[in-house]
Amino acid sequence: MALTQQQTQKLHTTIEQRHQALLSELREDVERVRRDRHEELAGASPDAGDESVATLIADLDHADVGRDLNELRELEAARTRLADGRYGVCDDCGGDIGYERLKANPAAVRCIACQTRHEKTYGTTSGSSL
Ligand SMILES: [Zn+2]
Repeated sequence: MALTQQQTQKLHTTIEQRHQALLSELREDVERVRRDRHEELAGASPDAGDESVATLIADLDHADVGRDLNELRELEAARTRLADGRYGVCDDCGGDIGYERLKANPAAVRCIACQTRHEKTYGTTSGSSL
């Protein structure tokens, strides 16, 4: 079933709230790295603290916040789909993703059937080549 306007509105709110929460988490992480970096480099060049946020984010990407960054990108993609009126439509089969699935994962781009097939085809983190 396609999403009602009310459901779309609700999911939109969820996406915005999650997006905001992730952004402040990431900002805190950046601040933490900046502080750690500053302590590490204390006594070194006085310019050492001038690293761009982009560099710090790149560092963070390899740390435990990589997942947060991923989710942030997914949420931003979901916002774009909302704006384009493509939200809630499966990327693979063009069918409806379904409200229950979107409530659990507002950034979902595939219906459950296609997601399952996708994971079988491309493997997941839980998959093993052994
Ligand atoms: Zn599908």
